[in-house]
Amino acid sequence: MIKDLIRELKLLDKYEWGSYTFNRDPIHNKVSRQEKKDMIEKANECGYHEALLLREKYGIKSPMEYAQLLGIKVSELEDEGSKDYILFARFNSPNNISVYMKNVRKAEELIKNENLNMMLGGVKIEDVLIAHEMFHFIEDNNRDIYTRTAKILLWELGPIKYHSGLVAPGEIAAMAFARELLKLSYYPNLFDILLLYPHNSKTAKALYDEAIAMRGDEA
Ligand SMILES: [Zn+2]
Repeated sequence: MIKDLIRELKLLDKYEWGSYTFNRDPIHNKVSRQEKKDMIEKANECGYHEALLLREKYGIKSPMEYAQLLGIKVSELEDEGSKDYILFARFNSPNNISVYMKNVRKAEELIKNENLNMMLGGVKIEDVLIAHEMFHFIEDNNRDIYTRTAKILLWELGPIKYHSGLVAPGEIAAMAFARELLKLSYYPNLFDILLLYPHNSKTAKALYDEAIAMRGDEA
């Protein structure tokens, strides 16, 4: 049952979720083990640090209130506008966050029906989604932030070096940011699986297996 899955996923640490996230990065094969470990640590530190900065600047607020203070427009939309994949939230530069409420409600129903609320620390799904996307707004506005400067050397030919950025550091940092902002005791990456579950429990279970397979991974 989903409750058992969540119980296990709550136990995964930053390296395990970091490796899971790296596995979804199109160029993860180009990253050495040591680079990956280093990036996981720095991305987590970056997300955590940005949450502290926000709290220092504005005090303790809800994600919606922080969004307002930062000049972000949050739109609660009914239709996700795509039949190909399921979308929960999205950041559009310069300052728009869309949250797809139909999918949020599906997850909320699941939490209610399966009695997961306590286990998840009573957090609101929408808050997790807004917090995650808010990090993407923050990195969009700071070209010197770690997640934008982290690059790997893809190839070199004599004096020519080709560096490339990665998707994973930003995603890892966004989760660390949401985790700190909402004071969660676990990594909110587990919402990837929980949110998908009401739509496609089979795919959600496959992602769960992938995440659990990272257990013991120090990246
Ligand atoms: Zn993201």
